[in-house]
Amino acid sequence: MTKRMIGPFEVGDRIGVGGMGIVYRATYTKNGARVALKILSPDVSDSESLQRRFEREISILKKLQHPNIVRYYGGGKFGSQRFYAMELVEAGSVESYLKKKQRLPWEEALDIATQIAMALEHAHEAGVIHRDLKPANLLMSPGNVIKLTDFGIARDTTATALTAAGKTVGTYAYMAPEQIRGKPPVDKKTDLYALGCVLFEMIAGETPFTSENQGEMLMQHLQEDPPRITSLVPDCPLFLEELIFRLLEKDPADRVYDALALQGEIENVRTKVTEQRSMAAQTLATGTVGGRSQSAEELKSILGKKKKKKKKDNSPFYERIWFLALCLLLLLGVVAWQFMPPGEEQLMARADKLLLTEYTADWREAKTKYLQPLIERFPEGRYAEKAHQMMVDIDKKVLDKDMHSPRRLREGPANEQEKLFLAAEHFLKFGDRITALRQFRSITRLFKDKKDAQLYVLLAEDQINAIVKAGGADEDYISYINKKLKEADSLFKKGNTVDAEEIWTSVKNLYRDNEEVRPQVAYAVKRIERSDNPGNPPWLEPLEPADNSSNPQ
Ligand code: ADP
Ligand code: MG
Repeated sequence: MTKRMIGPFEVGDRIGVGGMGIVYRATYTKNGARVALKILSPDVSDSESLQRRFEREISILKKLQHPNIVRYYGGGKFGSQRFYAMELVEAGSVESYLKKKQRLPWEEALDIATQIAMALEHAHEAGVIHRDLKPANLLMSPGNVIKLTDFGIARDTTATALTAAGKTVGTYAYMAPEQIRGKPPVDKKTDLYALGCVLFEMIAGETPFTSENQGEMLMQHLQEDPPRITSLVPDCPLFLEELIFRLLEKDPADRVYDALALQGEIENVRTKVTEQRSMAAQTLATGTVGGRSQSAEELKSILGKKKKKKKKDNSPFYERIWFLALCLLLLLGVVAWQFMPPGEEQLMARADKLLLTEYTADWREAKTKYLQPLIERFPEGRYAEKAHQMMVDIDKKVLDKDMHSPRRLREGPANEQEKLFLAAEHFLKFGDRITALRQFRSITRLFKDKKDAQLYVLLAEDQINAIVKAGGADEDYISYINKKLKEADSLFKKGNTVDAEEIWTSVKNLYRDNEEVRPQVAYAVKRIERSDNPGNPPWLEPLEPADNSSNPQ
């Protein structure tokens, strides 16, 4: 059988098929070196855009020389076939590795992430954004050295042509929000988002978003918070979870600054975890953790006894005991570490995280489990004041949600202040900001000294501030009602009876006890009843109080 030759390369078996070409094992006949040969498929060889893409991949790969990026050797054209040779990476991809292992211990995942970060740092320095970072494009050589590959859709920010700006390419599970939207423009932070997804997947065994449905998956990247890793994998350190969430920020500006900074942050996580563990071990050794001191005593006595028996002996047996004792100490350290109460910083971080969700149960938990203990244990600490404020905010949020819950709607307002608050809100919803403002203000006045109404006062103050901030309410409210009634009439004429009726009903319900606008209310009532003679539209009449009171019903 004749060997297939491409230029100076003897082509071996196929290792992979990609979107543009096929990758083969090959031998460089001049020196017998084994390489990987990527050949542009013959059937796309005459597509000009694909050819240019292939050339671009080559030119990008050519300028990247880094131990964590697949090395380019050389390429060319053989007959009508384009090809290039690169470093052969034999141990499979991170994708296949993950398939085998399901998930990786976080230490190993961090080791891989650091290598990816180093590769990205180098590419970004050279002005290259990868844009398709995913486990399949991360090859592994023996010893788990990571080699980033497949710059097929990479974007060379230093070149101008053919950069497919705004085009959404990349793989959905790892695609950053800006890649989906097309804005802001894709940049190095886009690769950091994908790296966040990969890191998440390595630790949790699944990508942050997992919908089977493509559209839904994209929406998740755009809108949803990723699930807590610590709830999927309890032994993932909280510091690490936080770091991953900072890679997965929706807004590129909120993400970790760059690939170099990320390497520093990863190192920080490692240091912090080690510190925490050794602190726990120390606490244990000095016996300061209540019930644990006994175990330390036991340990000491084990050490002591053995020492007496084999005082000057350096036999392997002594070493074994010493080693076992150390293991035991370490194990106890880990146990103690898990039971150790979290510090100030940690309490705040956990509360912060819970407040990001939409669930009142989470907010309550943030308050009782983290903020209250924080204030009790560190009353003079640097977070005490912030924690106080957060607790008030939580109470406000919970009350606001409760007030508008379906149950309250069924059962009615819980008290007088709530009734007034909801009424004021109705005016606001109707658009009568001046009456709303007046009512919110009267809540703050009426209840400012009533202890159990303080949250309503605070909520009312928030509403007042919002109205004032949005430009206040300078329009006089009677003109506003007239304007709405006019609008309702014209809606009605156009056949939009539903919206017209909504306005009339609002006027009737909101203002029925208001003497100043009796003609308006009467008019609205007549219109609802579809009376043949609703009387003169109130906006045509002079609106002095005398006229109002003499107005026939
Ligand atoms: P595409 O751009 O078409 O997706 P890739 O560059 O990702 O092509 O290559 C396709 C597959 O070939 C990869 O998933 C991988 O399995 C294999 N492959 C690519 N480059 C190498 C290499 N240098 N060494 C070993 N296998 C490789
Ligand atoms: Mg690929």
